[in-house]
Amino acid sequence: MAEAAIDRGDTEDLRRRQLIQATIESLADVGFVNCTLGDIARRAGVSTGLVAHYFGDKDGLLEATLRAMAARLGRSAAARLRAARTPRARVQAVIDANLAPEEFDRRTSSVWLAFWGQVLHSARFRRVQNVYQRRMLSNLRHALKQAVPPRDAETIAVAISAMIDGLWLRATLSGDGELDNAGARALATAFADAELARARPAAAPAAPAVARSGAEPVRNHVGGAPIRSAGRETFASVNPATGEVLAEIEIAGEPEVERAVAAARSGQAVWGAMTGAERGRVLKRVADLLRARNEELARLETLDTGKPIQETVAVDVLSGADAIEYFAGLAGTITGEHVDLGPRAFGYTRREPLGIVAGIGAWNYPLQIACWKAAPALACGNAMIFKPAELTPLTAVKLAEIMAEAGVPDGVFNVVQGFAETGRMLTGHPEIAKVSLTGEVGTGRKVMADAAQTLKHVTLELGGKSPLIVFDDADLDDAVSGALLGNFYSAGEVCSNGTRVFVQSRVRAAFLERLVARVRRMRVGDPLDPATQVGALISEEHMNKVLGYIERGRREGAALAAGGERVTAGALGRGFFVAPTVFDACSDEMAIVREEIFGPVMAVLPFEDEDEAIARANDTPFGLAAGVFTKDLSRGHRAIARLQAGTCWINHYNVTPIELPFGGAKQSGLGRENSKAAIEHYTQLKSVYVNLGPIEAPY
Ligand code: NDP
Repeated sequence: MAEAAIDRGDTEDLRRRQLIQATIESLADVGFVNCTLGDIARRAGVSTGLVAHYFGDKDGLLEATLRAMAARLGRSAAARLRAARTPRARVQAVIDANLAPEEFDRRTSSVWLAFWGQVLHSARFRRVQNVYQRRMLSNLRHALKQAVPPRDAETIAVAISAMIDGLWLRATLSGDGELDNAGARALATAFADAELARARPAAAPAAPAVARSGAEPVRNHVGGAPIRSAGRETFASVNPATGEVLAEIEIAGEPEVERAVAAARSGQAVWGAMTGAERGRVLKRVADLLRARNEELARLETLDTGKPIQETVAVDVLSGADAIEYFAGLAGTITGEHVDLGPRAFGYTRREPLGIVAGIGAWNYPLQIACWKAAPALACGNAMIFKPAELTPLTAVKLAEIMAEAGVPDGVFNVVQGFAETGRMLTGHPEIAKVSLTGEVGTGRKVMADAAQTLKHVTLELGGKSPLIVFDDADLDDAVSGALLGNFYSAGEVCSNGTRVFVQSRVRAAFLERLVARVRRMRVGDPLDPATQVGALISEEHMNKVLGYIERGRREGAALAAGGERVTAGALGRGFFVAPTVFDACSDEMAIVREEIFGPVMAVLPFEDEDEAIARANDTPFGLAAGVFTKDLSRGHRAIARLQAGTCWINHYNVTPIELPFGGAKQSGLGRENSKAAIEHYTQLKSVYVNLGPIEAPY
């Protein structure tokens, strides 16, 4: 008796699920109005009467369908929440469940949209919708209450859930690929991070702590684990906002570099033998871990670089994760080609890894640079030995730990620490096949010369003094935004900055007025304060170099329109802060116009016509980047085609999506990072001729 009841229950349940599935298909195919009981019955292969028997009328069936979809989403969120270990991870679980790829599937999304459109007219649908919204809110609220004060938890929960719904809607409705599920997820993640950073109680403990006396030094990371240096020599990493020592770092000498090369050799043998898809799967886990630890890593990057937390939490870690995710996706697509050589032969090429690659990083975007280099190198099957700049050694080690945790085989990604001498051990090492450097032009020359001894491949991402041209028809507020982004982001320590701002004479006064008003409102302050927009420069020495250029600008006759001084108010006096500085009435011969300052110093230069602007913009040995602001698109494209630069923007500045190649022309560099173009720089082609017939020999 009991068994029969269970059987009947199972059958009914099965039938209901079958009818709900048919309803989803009908809604997806013919839309809300044309979805009738008859159509649903036909799809399920049953009579209309049977559908009515189970669900009453069309509304009953639709309500059951909406409940089923909301329940599936609820189960997916609950499973993710169970696996999440921290409050931040629980917030992420909600984001990930709601913005999961399956929620963007065309059928699923068209069904959700059909319901959303009816919610206003149907109390039954509204009830289900309310349950779904309340569940999302309470999951978020519960997680947030453990991270921020209760009032903030409430408003942030509402803001994140609105953001999730808005992003889903936007991505679903934008047919032109403006936003996909990964993009929506990244935006929601960045938004949640920014909200949390803003709301975190001021008294939150600083993690990681400033080095305590007796603390263990940070070690070189070789063969998947930290190793002790034979020489035990260390250097200190200093927080540029306070002058405090963050950590002592062990220097890699000859023995450690040799160990790293040996580890890379055996790691590469394993890694290079895996299929691209397998490597991609592991790298995707690295990207996920980076995103999950965004907050912790952003904080460490802010301590090490002095950059504002509002930047590091939104850009540094996430753009590194983007790179790893992008190349994880490409890893399985790297192939050679077949070449037809007639009926008696054919040829093919194999795209093979280079072997061991050295990455040498600059100090302005330490983690991002490590990811931008490691991502293509590893996707192509190489092993990497990375040396961070000695001023910012901390986050590369975290990346190595994350690689190990994600399952990257030992020895595939190693970090050696030290100064130029350690770098030179890499550039001169005969077993290293390639060097990718981000640094100054002078360093680029030395690295290339050293690499030439063993004929290594080189990619050089070097400095710049890039032009940003504002024509008189430009949207001036946008042009000012571009100039601010292109000069003061990361306190001006960005290689591609548009520090020569050419403004057409007719709009110069208006441009300057709006620019200066906005510069004066910028907040220089403690980099850990989420409201801070301009943080510290990297070191005292670098600050003095920047202040020296400002002094030279004054002496050479440029007119100071804003800033121009070190900022020492309150606790800032302990660090290396310089106010965002604008010079007007600059001329092309001035040192502040010719040389890379790598600080928050903008030079405004008037011009009369297009030919003049282009000629002056190109009058530099650098060629990293260029930007043009104009509403005349023909002029925009014409001007960009004539500008000698590797990376250009029309009506924007300093955006670097991973899908586009990044790199310099002239003395700003060789090779390209990011995009499919990077694959060329981390692989070599092997050509294979295959004979299919007898060999004709004259002997
Ligand atoms: P540096 O050129 O001083 O240093 C870059 C890296 O090279 C550091 O890790 C440095 O070690 C190492 N190094 C220095 N000399 C040698 C050598 N002879 N052989 C091997 N390695 C060496 O640059 P910064 O760190 O000062 O960075 C700022 C510069 O980087 C600016 O010019 C900026 O424009 C450029 N840059 C370019 C980017 C691009 O993509 N085009 C992006 C970001 C920055 P250590 O620091 O330990 O001495």
